[in-house]
Amino acid sequence: MRLLILSDIHANLEALEACLDAAPEHDHVYNLGDIVGYGANPNEVTARSRELGNVFVRGNHDKACCGVSDLASFNPIAGTAALWTREKLTEDHLLFLRALPHGPISPIEDLQLVHGSPRDEDEYILAASDAYVLLSRATVPLTFFGHTHVQRCLVLDEQGQGKSFAPVYKSAKSKQTVKLEIKKNTKYMVNPGSIGQPRDNDPRAAFLLYDVDAALITFYRVPYNIARAQEKIFAAGLPERLAIRLEEGR
Ligand code: ZN
Repeated sequence: MRLLILSDIHANLEALEACLDAAPEHDHVYNLGDIVGYGANPNEVTARSRELGNVFVRGNHDKACCGVSDLASFNPIAGTAALWTREKLTEDHLLFLRALPHGPISPIEDLQLVHGSPRDEDEYILAASDAYVLLSRATVPLTFFGHTHVQRCLVLDEQGQGKSFAPVYKSAKSKQTVKLEIKKNTKYMVNPGSIGQPRDNDPRAAFLLYDVDAALITFYRVPYNIARAQEKIFAAGLPERLAIRLEEGR
């Protein structure tokens, strides 16, 4: 079974379509949340995400944009974008977002999906030290998470050593992949990175494919039409910073 794992699309239709074009054959799509917020195509991206599958966990922006949570934890730019998104979303998409489940969920054995972390859906996990306790307590070997917009793998190996692994690509241009073999007796927290607003200094859209039978993860980076996504953000009157950061990848 081959699982396409997407996260933090953030209403960026150009990035989503580029990833789907680049994605290899797969059996299911799992979505780790933050479908909307920041970008200019919330309805189109929600519609496309719903067509792709029915396995989702909710993100903090999904909650804020549909009114499940308030904007207290949002900075002014994120808050402005969330209110704009709430105005734009159709009633049907708002209802869909309100019904999204809280992580963790386990659609199949031996893996779980969360937006932030297994203990707190809004927690940011970046370093091996953040993940160590979570990995030692994890009851499944593989946790897929999003929220940080940083493509990364945190590992607790057989010897109980915590490690952090960031995919290293041959080129910063064109479509690139990096493979990671999933070992037995090792626990992993894996972040596919963000499709719609990468923050690891690589502006290319990020996702991954998990081949369960081959025990192999393939990380992807895919160029997309950033200029077009930016034009839409400017035209929508959204905060300009949301457009500029796309080309910086941060
Ligand atoms: Zn996000």
